[in-house]
Amino acid sequence: MSLPAAGSPLVAEERPDPVAGDGEVVLAVRACAVCRTDLHVQDGDLPDIPFPIVPGHEIVGEVTAVGAGVDLNVGDRVGVPWLGATCGSCEFCRRDQENLCPRARFTGYQIDGGFAEMTRADARYCFGLPAGWDDVSAAPLLCAGLIGYRSLAMCGDARRLGIYGFGAAAHIVAQVAVWQDREVYAFTRPGDVEAQTFAESLGAVWTGGSGDRPDKPLDAAIIFAPVGALVPAALEAVRPGGIVVCGGIHMSDIPTFPYRILWGERQLRSVANLTRHDAQAFLDLAPRVPVQTTTVTYPLERANDAMDDLRAARLSGAAVLVP
Ligand SMILES: [Zn+2]
Ligand SMILES: [Zn+2]
Repeated sequence: MSLPAAGSPLVAEERPDPVAGDGEVVLAVRACAVCRTDLHVQDGDLPDIPFPIVPGHEIVGEVTAVGAGVDLNVGDRVGVPWLGATCGSCEFCRRDQENLCPRARFTGYQIDGGFAEMTRADARYCFGLPAGWDDVSAAPLLCAGLIGYRSLAMCGDARRLGIYGFGAAAHIVAQVAVWQDREVYAFTRPGDVEAQTFAESLGAVWTGGSGDRPDKPLDAAIIFAPVGALVPAALEAVRPGGIVVCGGIHMSDIPTFPYRILWGERQLRSVANLTRHDAQAFLDLAPRVPVQTTTVTYPLERANDAMDDLRAARLSGAAVLVP
């Protein structure tokens, strides 16, 4: 299922089977979760998208062919995340910030991804998956989980943690946060009772609309919803010294706000991509929590319906395509 141009629906296309080059694997895709970033690719919100592109960067696949110099075997089950390749030699790569590598390439954005029956990946950016998860349950770990986890790590030792936007990433982060003894405050669209009930079922101690304020100030907040107006709202909800993390790749413009809501050593920062260390750390941690993913499956040919349902917030948890 390929995107021919910005603003277009996905189109079913027949292509020849991929061939594994040096260092690559070919995968039979078993499941691929749908991420908000796929919507940003569809909308052309990201720069220089090489259309046509096959989206999808939360891939669970079985290795069907290996190129030269690859450590994996035919039959192995692996996960493929957003980070598809890095240069390995720039200043960022050399100091464990490969997520910021200017020559990084990303799955489902610059490299054809997992909305497909088969795909191809650089073996160095494929990960073994915990045995306890079936293919569909494991797929959302690969972005909602990984980038959610990196966002959570940016919050330091915050105990009272706000989460704005309770979708696929939030539903995983909330479980990890509760397991780490944090208190989760879930902010949803005003009046979204279904999302609030879902958050409570995962251990949130407080739920409310994005404009509401809990009675205690937060130590940190993560914003997953792509809504710039949430930045001043979150800054007003955190205590002096608190942290606000923007977890998405794209956001509408942030409205101007008075300096006093940043004053008091509050910090505002973004999270970009992931490193392979994040991936390994999260995939080691997830079985210990244990994280349980809530998924809605769609056959691959209904990828457009999955994208539309995510866009319209008609989902609890993560949409997953199954070829
Ligand atoms: Zn993603
Ligand atoms: Zn680099």
